[in-house]
Amino acid sequence: MQQTTMNYLWINGEKFDVPETIDVINPATGQVIDQVPNGGEKETKLAIDAAYRAFKPWAKLSPNRRASYLLAWADNLLENREKLARLLTEEQGKPLTESLDEIEGSAQFIKWYAEEGKRVYGDVIAGASENQRISVIKQPVGVCGLITPWNFPGAMVARKVAPALAAGCTVILKPAAETPRTAIAMFEQLMKTGLPDGAANLVTGRASVIGDTMFRDQRVRKISFKGSTQVGKQLMKRAADQVKRISLELGGNAPVIVFPDANIDLAAEAIVGNKFENCGQMCNGINIIFAHEEIREVLTEKIAALVNRLKVGIGTDNVQLGPLINESSLNNVERLLRDAKEKGARVLTGGKRIKSAAHMNGYFFAPTVVSDVTLDMKLTQEEIFGPVAPILSFREEQEVLEFTENSPYGLAAYFFTRDVNRVYRMAEQLDAGMIGINSTQLSVPQAPFGGIKESGMGREGGHYGLEEFLELKYISLTLE
Ligand code: ADP
Repeated sequence: MQQTTMNYLWINGEKFDVPETIDVINPATGQVIDQVPNGGEKETKLAIDAAYRAFKPWAKLSPNRRASYLLAWADNLLENREKLARLLTEEQGKPLTESLDEIEGSAQFIKWYAEEGKRVYGDVIAGASENQRISVIKQPVGVCGLITPWNFPGAMVARKVAPALAAGCTVILKPAAETPRTAIAMFEQLMKTGLPDGAANLVTGRASVIGDTMFRDQRVRKISFKGSTQVGKQLMKRAADQVKRISLELGGNAPVIVFPDANIDLAAEAIVGNKFENCGQMCNGINIIFAHEEIREVLTEKIAALVNRLKVGIGTDNVQLGPLINESSLNNVERLLRDAKEKGARVLTGGKRIKSAAHMNGYFFAPTVVSDVTLDMKLTQEEIFGPVAPILSFREEQEVLEFTENSPYGLAAYFFTRDVNRVYRMAEQLDAGMIGINSTQLSVPQAPFGGIKESGMGREGGHYGLEEFLELKYISLTLE
């Protein structure tokens, strides 16, 4: 077993160890590579105590001062990007190039919020009477519990911690059990900035116990969660007990629609780029490809040709696809493909696990393209979260609009066209929180990332993302 760095919790600015540990597995080998502390109620309470004590002084600091810590954090991450990216790939599986992009993207996101924290504006409103003066100010929400998933273990930490701290909130972060070491290593870099004790705390361990402790404690004023729709719904119910503020970024079922007037080469490349990033484990990843019947054949050929070139293997080798996160993800992909084949879908390439000496006992699945897909197949209704590209043929815009309207999800939708009228017609009618036109890249610091319906509530990114960590206060002054 390869023991790497020391792993610990961060509570009140100090390393905190617990005797019990949980194993961390490398999905490319199926081997245990490390252990992290199995924190629970006691550690979470201590972290909340620390965050609560730190809140008022942190909120009082000028945004410039708060920004200085965030900027130093971003610099530390960039300085250590190679080391952090390796750690990320080891526990998550994605290719090293993607991990490097993720660490660099995290630093950009943190820098953006360091600046945006300086731009919190209120309002002055005309009074209801001659002597009333109304102002509206924005103040940090308070202590926030941040819960992150395993698919982007670095970016998710940055995307929650940075806006919260920039707004003047203090935080307790609970990263996913599958990928805790990236969060621990990123916290180490945050602590090196000299951040005031308790402003940011980290607890790894039993998710439901840590979550429960945060929900029961009145001092925690907000929970920001990113993960599955199933867990998100449970947490939303828990939030009701104390009417805690909550942001949720949950699952999706993103369609991409390719119209006959599109640049087909561009569309094929962008689709493959998005669909197979992170081995298809991306909430805003394409789940279903609607190809107009006039271009279906040529688009399918181009996609299949690009997919056939993708190299699968251990993320630290020169590959485009790593493994899935675990065995149950593999089983899920197989289940969806089985159902599709039974209902008449054709597997054009891939379609099975990869077992070879080079792939050891990792959770590898061949990049897959499936044609003749129909909407009665589970593949089109459930989030695949794997490297499978299902292609459907359509004729009328209305068919796709109905698909998004009927879907319980509404995170992202993409389409390719050169018709400007269609651009507005579709963008305004598609039922999703984010629309990508002639590109499948959405995640940039200045834009509001998030979904509607069962894909969540609240936004990450942009000034909207800062609002998630701010409360409004209405001040009425009556002059004598
Ligand atoms: P995924 O399918 O991406 O693993 P989950 O919703 O299971 O999504 O997990 C996302 C995050 O939520 C992880 O950090 C996980 O540990 C955490 N989590 C899971 N169950 C709970 C719970 N009951 N309370 C709080 N956090 C939870």
